[in-house]
Amino acid sequence: MLKSKLASKLVPYVPGEQPKGGKVIKLNTNENPYPPSPKSVAEVSSFDFSRMRLYPDPTAEALREAIAEVEGVRKENVFVGNGSDEVLSLAFAAFFDGESAPVLFPDVTYSFYKVFCSLYKINYAEIAVKDDFTVDVEDYIGKDLSGIVLANPNAPTAISLEDSAFCRLAEAYPDKVIIIDEAYVDFSKYPSFVSLTKKYENVLVVKTFSKSRSLAGGRCGYAIGSAELISTLRAVKDCFNSYTVNTLTATMARASVLDVDYFDLCIEKIKRTRARLVSELNALGYILTDSDANFVFAKHPTMSGKEVQNALREKGVIVRRFDSPRIADYLRITIGTEEDTDSLVEILKTL
Ligand code: PMP
Repeated sequence: MLKSKLASKLVPYVPGEQPKGGKVIKLNTNENPYPPSPKSVAEVSSFDFSRMRLYPDPTAEALREAIAEVEGVRKENVFVGNGSDEVLSLAFAAFFDGESAPVLFPDVTYSFYKVFCSLYKINYAEIAVKDDFTVDVEDYIGKDLSGIVLANPNAPTAISLEDSAFCRLAEAYPDKVIIIDEAYVDFSKYPSFVSLTKKYENVLVVKTFSKSRSLAGGRCGYAIGSAELISTLRAVKDCFNSYTVNTLTATMARASVLDVDYFDLCIEKIKRTRARLVSELNALGYILTDSDANFVFAKHPTMSGKEVQNALREKGVIVRRFDSPRIADYLRITIGTEEDTDSLVEILKTL
């Protein structure tokens, strides 16, 4: 067999479709409908491409300094990687292991967590979310566990927890790592947990440039946590690939994180469009969660999720659906531009 035993058992994560051509309205992977910060684009225009001859800075210091400045932490508290998927993957390898008690995460959450566990042979247990898809942190208390991973806002439900919930977990398990995946936090009504990483040494917050900063194609994500957590992550990274963030991406990401005005503008626009889409969907009778992210999680009152997804697809609108029992009738629809939303709503009205 031309495979390791491990490789023959893997069930990989399946990313959302990236259509190759044709005119589609792409609302399936929670990308930002607006371009990256003009300041980060200007960095590419004036970039000295002879720098690409050299390896990147293995610690991406200039980028980490900029992130530290904007996040109000020190650069020793920042780790960067090739998208937050890579940061999460390294964090699973760094903080959890196979022989110990399980890592806990919700049964309805980002499906990559299970994939990391299978890759690294980590025990895990899924804790059922409530019928309304909310997470109750009390379900995570009093358990034998080796860590907790929560996406906040959660994906694909778009629902947030207040930070007091995370304080409860961080205090209940001071010697276990609690990972908070804040891929969508910039669209939330609640603040990021980053400020609390100074108080809780066991909490690692993971963020991305892919959503709120329109740099999904650049592949850059980061983690913030105590210096001890960050140096452990760095050690694992250096056993895998010293240069995970390329020079061009690091340059764009740095300019992007420092461009606070443009960031605020894009977030405001997306939140405004979200409010409009939510009210249109409510008017059409859809069942919705309380979206705190750059997507909504919505179910048609009578049609199956598959039927609605196919009907949209026929009209050139791509949305995401997960074929797992509790959520198969829900669609995860990314917030696009105002025009995307007009087209989407027009089609939904015909169903
Ligand atoms: N976490 C969550 C909850 C996500 O939905 C995604 C996007 N698929 C990621 C992390 C990864 O994002 P990226 O690797 O683009 O930073």
